[in-house]
Amino acid sequence: NPNPTAHFPLPAMPPLVSRSVAVIGAGAAGLSAALELRREGHSVVVYERETQIGGTWAYTPETEIDPMGLNPNRKVIHSSLYSSLRTNLPREVMGFRVYPFVASEKPGRDPRRFPGHREVLEYLRDFAEEFKLGELVRFGREVLYVGLVEDRKWAVRSKKGNGEDGDDEVYDAVVVCNGHYTEPRIAEIPGIDEWPGKQIHSHNYRVPDPFRDQVVVLIGSSASADDISRDIARVAKEVHIASRSVQNGVTGKLPGHDKIWLRPMINSVHKDGTVTFQDGNEIYTDVILHCTGYKYHFPFLETNGIVTVEDNRVGPLYKHIFPPTLAPWLSFVGLPWKVVPFPLFEFQNKWIAGVLSGRIPLESKEEMMADIEAFYSSLEASGIPNRYTHQMGESQFEYDDWLAAKSGSPSTEEWRKQMYFVTGRRKRSTPETYRDHWEDEDLISLAHQDFKRHVL
Ligand code: FAD
Repeated sequence: NPNPTAHFPLPAMPPLVSRSVAVIGAGAAGLSAALELRREGHSVVVYERETQIGGTWAYTPETEIDPMGLNPNRKVIHSSLYSSLRTNLPREVMGFRVYPFVASEKPGRDPRRFPGHREVLEYLRDFAEEFKLGELVRFGREVLYVGLVEDRKWAVRSKKGNGEDGDDEVYDAVVVCNGHYTEPRIAEIPGIDEWPGKQIHSHNYRVPDPFRDQVVVLIGSSASADDISRDIARVAKEVHIASRSVQNGVTGKLPGHDKIWLRPMINSVHKDGTVTFQDGNEIYTDVILHCTGYKYHFPFLETNGIVTVEDNRVGPLYKHIFPPTLAPWLSFVGLPWKVVPFPLFEFQNKWIAGVLSGRIPLESKEEMMADIEAFYSSLEASGIPNRYTHQMGESQFEYDDWLAAKSGSPSTEEWRKQMYFVTGRRKRSTPETYRDHWEDEDLISLAHQDFKRHVL
C-alpha cells in the first residue's frame, strides 16, 4: 500500500482560516509577527513609521528637541540607542530560533560575541531578506488610529507618504508591535523646578562629549545606567550614580573607577545647584541624567477603555498578549521585559498566528479573565507594584515553554537558558569585561551543534 495512512484517517482538523492582519511596527517583534502570520496562511500588512526596518536597532545620532522627552508636540525619535552600545546578551542567546545570530562572513561585519548595535541591525536586515519580509512592510506609514468597527473588525488609519491622513483600512485582526523604549519615565525630584542645572533622559543620550568636565548625577540601576555612567566617566569630571538598589548597600567610589561614585537616591535639589542624597551627602551638579526607563504608550489605540495602561501595567491581558474581550482580534507582542526578546517574540507570534487561524483553541473569555485575576492577585500578595507586571526575569522560560506547548514548538534549548544565567552572573561579577572574556565555551559549542540541525 503506497499510502500507509489511507485506512487510518487522521483525526478531523478544523480547516485553517486565513485572516487579514495588520501589524504595527517593523522592529524585531513586528518582523517575527509577519513571518509567523504568513507561515500560518494569513495575509499580512506591516505598518512602519520609519523608512527602514529594525526599530530600536536603527541607531540615529539625532535626538529630540526636548531632552527629557516630555513635550507632547515634539518630533518623536524612536530609537534610544547610544553610539557605544554593545549587546548585553551573547549573540547565540539573543538571536531568533528560526534564524540564528551567527557571525556573518559579509565584509564589514562585527563578528564579536556581544556585537555593537550596527551588527544587530544588519542581522535583522538579513533576517528580513531571508524570509522576504520587506515586501509585507509599508514604510513611512505611521499608524494614527486603530479602533473597532462593526462585526468585530478593526479600522487602521495611517499617515500617507505625503503627510496626509490615509483612509481607514479594515482588518480582521491587529497585532501591536510598536516597542516600548521611546516614551521616557521620569523620576520626581523635590525642588527640581528651581534647580538651575540641565536634565536629560537616557532616551536622548548618544555620546559622552557634551558632558566633558561636568559633574553628572545619573539616576537608575539598569543595564543602560551601567553602560552610560562608564561612557560618560571617560570625559566628565565626576559621575554619581543614584540608585535605589544601593540604599542598604555600599556607597562611595565604584571599585576600579576614579570618577564614579555610588549614591543612594536623591532626596532633594536646590536653587544653588546642589543635589542632596538620602544619606545627607550634597554635591554641586551640572547635569541630572534620568536612566529611569520607559512607559508603554499606544497613542493610536482606541479600545473604549477595554485596554488601559495604569502605572505601566497594560491590562487586562491574558499572558501579556490578549485582552480577553477582544481576543484574538487584538494582541500585543513584546511587552515582557528582563527577557531574551527575539525568541520570546517568536513564541508569542506562533501562538497568535495559530489562534487566529483556528489551529490552536483559545481559552474562554471567563477562563482568561480568571487567569489574569489570579496573576494580579499573586503580584499584589507579593507586594509587587503594577509597574512590574510585565517584568519576567527568571520566570520567562516557564512562560516561553507554556507558549511553545500551545503552538506545538520545541521549548527553549537547555544551552540557551544556561548561557543566559551564566552571562547574567558574569555581568554582575565582572561588568567591565563580561563582553570580551567568558568561560562557557561548552555551551557555545552546544549552541552551534543545535544551529546546524535546527529548523523551526
Ligand atoms: P522596536 O524595535 O522598538 O520596534 C518598534 C517599531 O514600531 C519601530 O520600528 C517603530 O518605528 C514602529 N512604530 C512605533 N509606533 C508606530 C506607529 N504608530 N505606526 C507605525 N510604526 C510605529 N535586546 C536584546 O536582545 N539585546 C540587547 O542587548 C538589547 N539592548 C537594548 C539596549 C537598549 C538601550 C534598548 C532600549 C533596548 C535593548 N534591547 C535589547 C531590547 C530591544 O528593545 C529589543 O531587542 C527589540 O529591539 C524590541 O523590538 P520591538 O519590535 O518590540 O520594538
